[in-house]
Amino acid sequence: MSKTPITVAHGDGIGPEIMKATLKILEAAGAELAIETIEIGKAVYERGVLSGIEDKSWESLRRTKVFLKAPITTPQGGGVKSLNVTVRKTLGLYANVRPCIAFSPYVKTSHPLMNLTIVRENEEDLYAGIEYRQTPQVYQCLKLISEPGSEKIIRYAFEYARLNNRKKVSCFSKDNIMKMTDGLFHKTFDRIAKEYPEIQNDHHIVDIGSARLATKPELFDVIVTENLYGDIISDIAADVAGSVGLGGSSNVGDQCAMFEAIHGSAPDIAGKDMANPSGLLLGAIMMLVHICQTEVAAKIHNAWLRTLEDGIHTGDIYSPDHSKEKVGTQAFADAVIKNLGHTPQRFHVVKYNNVCSMGPIKCAATADVKRELVGYDFYLYDAKSTANQLAEVVQKAQSDNLKLTMINNRGAKVWPHGMAETFCTDHWRCRFYRVKGKTVTQNDIVKLMQRLVDLKLDCIKSEGLYLYNDEVGFIRGEGEE
Ligand code: NAD
Repeated sequence: MSKTPITVAHGDGIGPEIMKATLKILEAAGAELAIETIEIGKAVYERGVLSGIEDKSWESLRRTKVFLKAPITTPQGGGVKSLNVTVRKTLGLYANVRPCIAFSPYVKTSHPLMNLTIVRENEEDLYAGIEYRQTPQVYQCLKLISEPGSEKIIRYAFEYARLNNRKKVSCFSKDNIMKMTDGLFHKTFDRIAKEYPEIQNDHHIVDIGSARLATKPELFDVIVTENLYGDIISDIAADVAGSVGLGGSSNVGDQCAMFEAIHGSAPDIAGKDMANPSGLLLGAIMMLVHICQTEVAAKIHNAWLRTLEDGIHTGDIYSPDHSKEKVGTQAFADAVIKNLGHTPQRFHVVKYNNVCSMGPIKCAATADVKRELVGYDFYLYDAKSTANQLAEVVQKAQSDNLKLTMINNRGAKVWPHGMAETFCTDHWRCRFYRVKGKTVTQNDIVKLMQRLVDLKLDCIKSEGLYLYNDEVGFIRGEGEE
C-alpha cells in the first residue's frame, strides 16, 4: 500500500506527549503514513502570528488535506484568534463529529449504556465572529443560519447514521424562541428526515434535550445541532460518558478533514507523563477510517479496548475498584502496542468493513423566490429620550408610503402603547412599514434615512423587511398585522 500523506501538529501542553504516544501506536500497527510536521499554537502566536498558524503550514494542509492535530494553548486577549475556528472555516470543515461512549465497567460512569454521536454544525451560527458595540450600552453578536449550511449538516448526520447502522437522528434547536433561524434548522431537518424512512427521527428543544442528555443519554443515538448548542452539549456528553480524556473527534469538509482529541492542552499535567492519549488516539482511528486504512483502524481500536479491559489505565480513569495498573502516557501506549492483534473480550469487536469516508454531501439548489421590500427597521442610539419623545421626532421622517408602526427596546414594544415598567436602554429599533396599497423601493429607504439624519437622529444600523413568495421574512412585533 502506498503511504497516505498527512499533516501532523504536536501542539502545546500535553500535546507533544500524547502525539508521541499516538504516532508510536500507529506506526507499530502498520499505518501507512507519510507525515509532514507543522508547528501551530503558542510558539507561533508568540512570533506575532495572530491566527497561530503560518503560511507554510497552510500549504502542507492544502497538499495533504488530512490533519492530525494535538491540542494547543490559546493565549488570552491581544487580538488572538482561535486557531480551531480559523482552520475549520478556512478548510470548510462544516461537520464536527464526536462519538461519546461509556466504557463501563472499566471507566466509571452512571450511564453504562451511553453510546451516541454528536454531529455539530461547525461554520455558522454565533461563531461567524460578527459582533459590534452598537451603543455605549448595547453589544450585538449576529447569529447566521443558512439553508444550504443546515441542509448539509443534517444530510451528513443522516448519511453518518446510515453508514454506521445507527437507528435514530435527533435534532436539537430552540425554535420556540428563534423562530426564523432555529425554525429554518428544524424545518430543514423535518424535510431531510423524510428521505431516510429507515432511520427514526425526533426533535428536542435544546434546553430539555440537554437535560435529558445529561440524565438519560441512552435515549439518544445520533444528535445533529447548530454550532453553539453542539459545542455545549459535546462537553456535557463527554463528561457524562466518563472522561474528557477519552473523547476523539473529526472535523470534516468536502475536501479536507481534521482529527483531534476533544480536550485542551491540560497545562496542569503537561510534561508529567500523566495524560491519557486515548482521545487523540481515537481521533487518529477516525482519520485512518477516513483515509480508508480501515484494517489498521480496527486493529488499533480493538487493541485499545482490550487495554481498557485489562485494567491498564492512566490516572484520569484509574480507580482501585476496576483498574489493575496505573500507568503513564507512554506506558499506556506500550500496553496498546502489546495488545495489537488481540480483540476485546467483553466489548464488541470493532469492524470497519472497508467502509471509509462518505465523500462530499450534495445539497439541493435554493429555489427561486419572489422577494418584495415592505419596510425597514432603523436602529437608533438615544440615551436621553423616552419612547414617546423619540416617536414624536421619528414620525416626522414618515412619507406617504412608509409609516412608523412600532418602536422596540431590546425586543420589547415600547411604542405605541408601551408600559412604564419596561426598562429601556440607549438602543431603539424603529419599524417603518409600507402603507397598504403602496410600493417601497431602495430609493425610498435612502431618502428615509436622510430624513432621520436631518432630524439629528443617530442611526446605528438598518435592516430590510422582505416578503418571500408573500411569506413574511422577519418577526412581527406584538400587535403588528
Ligand atoms: P483542558 O481540556 O485542557 O483540561 C481540563 C481538565 O481535564 C484539566 O484538569 C486537565 O488536566 C484534564 N485533562 C484534559 N485532557 C486530559 C487527558 N488527555 N488526560 C488526563 N486529563 C486530561 O481544558 P482547559 O484547562 O480549559 O484548557 C487548557 C488550554 O487548552 C486552554 O488554553 C484552551 O484554550 C486550550 N484548548 C484547546 C483545545 C484544542 O486545541 N482543541 C480545546 C480545548 C481547550
